Amino acid sequence: MRPSAGRVLIVDDNVDLVSTLRSVLSLSSARTFDVTSAARGSEALEIASRVGFDVAIVDVKLPDVSGVDLIAGLRDASPHGEVVLITGFASVDAAIGALRSGAFAFVLKSFRPEELISIVEQAFTKVELKHEREELERRYRDLVDLTDVLVVALDGQRRVALLNPKASSMVGVTGDEARGKRFASEWIPAEDRTSFDEAFERTTNDSGYARGQDVETGLLGGTASPKRRIRWHLSRARGEDTLVYGIGIDVTERRALERRAADAEAMSAMGELALNLAHEIRNPLNAAVLQLHMLGRNIDKLDAEEATRAQLRKRAEIVGDEIGRLNRLLTEFLELARPRKIAREPVHLSKLVEDVLDLEIAKIEGGALSIVREIASEGCVALGDSAKLKQVVLNLVVNALEAMKDGGTLTARVRADVDHVVVELEDTGSGIDQEALANVFDPFFTTKEAGTGLGLSIVRKIVDQHEGEIRIVSERGKGTRVSVEIPKAR
Ligand code: ADP
Ligand code: MG
Repeated sequence: MRPSAGRVLIVDDNVDLVSTLRSVLSLSSARTFDVTSAARGSEALEIASRVGFDVAIVDVKLPDVSGVDLIAGLRDASPHGEVVLITGFASVDAAIGALRSGAFAFVLKSFRPEELISIVEQAFTKVELKHEREELERRYRDLVDLTDVLVVALDGQRRVALLNPKASSMVGVTGDEARGKRFASEWIPAEDRTSFDEAFERTTNDSGYARGQDVETGLLGGTASPKRRIRWHLSRARGEDTLVYGIGIDVTERRALERRAADAEAMSAMGELALNLAHEIRNPLNAAVLQLHMLGRNIDKLDAEEATRAQLRKRAEIVGDEIGRLNRLLTEFLELARPRKIAREPVHLSKLVEDVLDLEIAKIEGGALSIVREIASEGCVALGDSAKLKQVVLNLVVNALEAMKDGGTLTARVRADVDHVVVELEDTGSGIDQEALANVFDPFFTTKEAGTGLGLSIVRKIVDQHEGEIRIVSERGKGTRVSVEIPKAR
């Protein structure tokens, strides 16, 4: 805020009048005035340009210049100031001349004190209002310039009158270049132009005046594209005939989010459906397994050549294998899809890894595989769900063994760092292509003939549930190292 002491400049060579004016001004109850005086016009101009003034009280008759002629110079020197002229004679011409030349008012030398005070106070109020208005204008300009919303103003012919920096940076032209161009034809994509024009039409109608109109469009040029969505609020400027302001918000990201949320909803509904379907498939599958067993026994009792029976048995076996694979797929799928909560208990990962290795190695025939165990026993207690973590280790060991069909070395490491237990399984098997590496966690991604592609998806899900980390380093033909970190139990 400006100080409330008004700066008054008295320009008069009559010393007595100056001191009268000073004492009159000091009578004001509304304001205090900070009074300076000058005896000549030249001195007044010097003071005005050096320190400025709010209100100047100027005698029409000065030694060096007419007070009327001084007005323009004073207002140049202090643009917000107002000038009150004092004259010794009253004539209509003098009054009109004074006001024409830009004086705020004129006062006769025979003034009553309260009359002068009132006029100076009014002049001062006008000065303050000018300051306030300027400040407001500056703030509005800043708002329009700095804001992250687009602001455009269009005249009655829908031509650009104003484009704020945000809008101009999006459409890729400066405000000056845009001025006078038809906004919709230049920058609104054809498919949205009609709705924009209609909204504009409604805005300029009397009915649309009060509320303004909303319309969403794309935007062309610069960084804009028909794909960007701008939500416009069009409204008619008050007091002006047909200046329509468009305030635009870039809603592209919001729209994309909304779409993704809708997709996710559809996905989760699908997920539930798939879960039910998987359950439903299991029953007939079990029935088929049972029938297959009986078929096997029937084949054995069949009165036929042994070769024929063997052929039938072989067929039944293939069906059995296929059903087994389907069953595995379902089990893994259910494991992945079921939103089950995990336990949070201390789990001894060293022992868990040993158990899984013992179990899996027992299944391996032949001696082309060697197993190296680098398993610490101290402090390797994770916080989590032991059945789930067992699944993680099992899936990783199975993958490693499957990658070493022609033999190799599986190294299993378990160790603890400050707040994690680290399980590492390293094989010298086939390795993974760099391209494939990006996909190995995707459900159903498999490079194996009979693979389900769900093993690593399950691993990842369980590790995530434990707020752990998993990393895979692999080189085609050399081997693969998978590290899993699970937070320690405290
Ligand atoms: P699946 O084992 O049924 O194929 P996974 O999700 O367990 O499904 O693995 C996905 C794919 O990642 C595998 O098909 C394989 O290509 C690759 N992969 C995973 N682990 C290894 C490994 N230790 N060595 C080589 N490739 C691997
Ligand atoms: Mg697997």
